[in-house]
Amino acid sequence: MGIDPNYRQNRQVVGEHEGHKIYGPIGPPGKLGIHGTIVGVDFDLCIADGSCINACPVNVFQWFDTPSHPASEKKADPINEKSCIFCMACVNVCPVAAIDVKPP
Ligand code: SF4
Repeated sequence: MGIDPNYRQNRQVVGEHEGHKIYGPIGPPGKLGIHGTIVGVDFDLCIADGSCINACPVNVFQWFDTPSHPASEKKADPINEKSCIFCMACVNVCPVAAIDVKPP
């Protein structure tokens, strides 16, 4: 199962990181929640495939190291979500459906 497309309503904001919100629950290092509001990445699903980073035409993502997370030791962090042009390339290439994009 992929990211909950209604996470913005269903989850609580528990913090901020690199200018975007973090939606919980979190419990580092094993549980990291969802990063971003315009471009949401479920860090607990992300396997660091990297397709989204390669696909994004406006460099929304940057690797973020997450040592000891069970799914992968780095995540595609939407540090530049405000630049998103809603092409949906990242959503379409993610092998684990960890990304949800929604215009503000
Ligand atoms: S929808 Fe397109 S522009 Fe937005 S983050 Fe994904 S790949 Fe980048």
